[in-house]
Amino acid sequence: MKIAELFGRGRPVFSCEIFPPKKDSPIDSIYQTLDGLKDIRPDFISVTYGAGGSGAVNQSTQEIACMIEQKYHIPAMAHLTCVGCTKESSLEILETLKAGGVENILALRGDHNPNVGSHTDFLHANDLVSWIREHGDFGISGACYPEGHPESPDIVSDIRYLKQKVDAGATHLVSQLFFDNDDFLRFLERCRLAGIDVPIEAGIMPVLSKASIQRMVSMCGASMPRKLTRILARYGDHPQAMREAGIAYAIDQISDLIAAGVDGIHLYTMNNPQVARQISDSISAIRSV
Ligand code: FAD
Repeated sequence: MKIAELFGRGRPVFSCEIFPPKKDSPIDSIYQTLDGLKDIRPDFISVTYGAGGSGAVNQSTQEIACMIEQKYHIPAMAHLTCVGCTKESSLEILETLKAGGVENILALRGDHNPNVGSHTDFLHANDLVSWIREHGDFGISGACYPEGHPESPDIVSDIRYLKQKVDAGATHLVSQLFFDNDDFLRFLERCRLAGIDVPIEAGIMPVLSKASIQRMVSMCGASMPRKLTRILARYGDHPQAMREAGIAYAIDQISDLIAAGVDGIHLYTMNNPQVARQISDSISAIRSV
């Protein structure tokens, strides 16, 4: 099933994101994550594509996406990056995904990793979107940034490029994580004004520790609302309390976003099905309203 078809059914879409096991872990370790996630009935599960493009990890993206379709019977979305593939290798990947029953791809530029080197056949995500559209019958999604992409000079040009990505064939967007719902809702309004009319899912990352929030903020530049700064100051050095407060914060964000009528919630699970389950259980009625 194409992901765009999941929207407009009178309830928000709820999806989860996982990453392939690290190089030194067996691919089977992902079963534990997926066994936990299947019980919360996500509408689809997306699988990241190793940053900078290390071959083994990238291959496991495809294997896992195919397994999600075949073993768990859940729609899967495989991530693919410009920096991590060539025109030639992308065609092999599309073939593998198609043979494995995967119908959806999140087309990304990726980040340049000086230790690995980047491919340059595709410079921006919209180039990859056009290419995939020409070379297969896939549902194509793209990334978007409620606070602007860190390399963008301003939000206006970022949204202009986002519109190009949609015009190139992206039929669904997933947002970068954010902690202030007003940032997302403002962004949504700007997208609609710019004529971007595809479903836009809100990316939610539960913050479970002081270290993880600091890492996230430095990686993606998400701003920290005062409410979250207070939580960090009070509970940051108390792991269990921080975890509880972080999960409560994510639940609060989700229920507010759904009340505001967003198209869907994309949960960055960090391969932690217990946390995903706790969040999903707390919003089970909210999800179906
Ligand atoms: P683009 O859409 O190409 O945008 C990148 C920058 O270029 C922006 O500043 C944009 O304004 C500008 N731009 C866009 N198009 C043009 C154009 N035609 N001409 C000039 N400028 C342009 N990374 C991974 O390596 N693996 C993953 O699995 C992964 N999953 C992700 C999932 C989500 C939901 C998100 C939000 C990000 C993910 N990333 C992943 C990170 C992503 O690759 C980086 O954020 C990257 O820096 C930008 O990717 P993009 O697809 O948004 O790029």
